[in-house]
Parts: sequence; C-alpha cells; structure tokens
Amino acid sequence: MARVTILDKTFETSYPESQITQAVAKVADAINADLDGRDPLFLCVLNGAFMFAADLMKRVSIPSKISFVKFASYSGTQSTGVIKQLIGLNEDLTGRTVVIIEDIVDTGITIENLVKQCKEKGAADVRVATMLFKPGNCKTPTKPDYVGLEIPNDFIVGYGLDYDGYGRNIPEILTLVQ
Ligand code: 5GP
Ligand code: MG
Repeated sequence: MARVTILDKTFETSYPESQITQAVAKVADAINADLDGRDPLFLCVLNGAFMFAADLMKRVSIPSKISFVKFASYSGTQSTGVIKQLIGLNEDLTGRTVVIIEDIVDTGITIENLVKQCKEKGAADVRVATMLFKPGNCKTPTKPDYVGLEIPNDFIVGYGLDYDGYGRNIPEILTLVQ
C-alpha cells in the first residue's frame, strides 16, 4: 500500500497485513492457553477495535461470549481525570472473567477507566487485549495483558483506527509522515 493520503495528511505502511496476522495469532494463542475453562466475556470497545476483535475472535477457540461497548461522546471531569460513560453493557459481570478488546493503548487512561468500571460491576478478573500499545506514552499503572504490537509514539491509522473518521477500513497499519 506504501503511501496513502487521508484528508490533508500522508501516511505510510508500518505494519503490513502479514505482520498483523501473526500478531493477532500470538494474542489468540496466549488467551486460549490462559483462559481455557474460564468462560470469558470479551468486550470489544467500539469503534476502533472492531477489526481486531473480528480477527481475534476467529482464532479464539475456547468457549466464550463477546459483547460490544462504546463510550458516550460526552464526558464529565473528575479530579482523577476524564471519566467517560460506558454504554451498551447489558451483561451481568458478577464473578466473570472479562477480556477488554482495544485497538490501541496510548496514555492508558481509557483502559484504566474501563477496567475500573468492570470491577465495580462485579467482574472477578479483568484483562486487556490490545492490538497496539505505545509503552512510551503510557502514564497509568494499568498495562495491557495481551499486546499485538508495541509501537513508537507516532500517530497511526488503519486496521480500525481512524483519522477524523477515515481510514478504519485499511487492512494495514499506517504511520503519519511528518
Ligand atoms: P488512551 O486513553 O490510552 O490515551 O487512548 C486510547 C484512545 O486514543 C484510542 O482508543 C484511540 O481512540 C486514541 N488513539 C491513541 N493513539 C492513537 C493513534 O495513534 N491513532 C489513532 N487513530 N487513535 C489513537
Ligand atoms: Mg479504542
């Protein structure tokens, strides 16, 4: 795919489909080994994680369920930072093993908030599987348990991630050309 222009910006392929496929398989293998017999509930965080969740779940071979959640666009501010309201979670989490599926963990604030909300709803074990992780930017003690690819602190699009709503359908991961 090489270079792609989205709106006013140019992006370049960093991770081709073959590398993404390998990374997804690695995450699925680890989950299959760790959570066999635990009947986990996967929670796909929309919109960004839709593509990773689809590919990952095709390789998850243990009995499990998947559901889809989203954060409301409005947010309230507390001393701990921005707390966003979670919508679409109808499942009873009491005593469950929950695996949050994310597209990317950057500062870590989103997953920290989501892990906390799942625990408040009674989940016994909450884990995070993310396609991408920027360890250089992560400011929270909550780290992802399963990581597809560790990446530098650059802005990326594709494989579910967008630039102003565009680029989510690109099957590769592209980096902004500075
Ligand atoms: P965090 O709360 O970990 O800082 O941020 C997570 C969210 O920030 C992601 O779900 C995603 O929406 C957005 N984000 C962080 N880095 C990038 C990036 O490089 N590209 C895109 N498209 N979104 C990003
Ligand atoms: Mg996300």
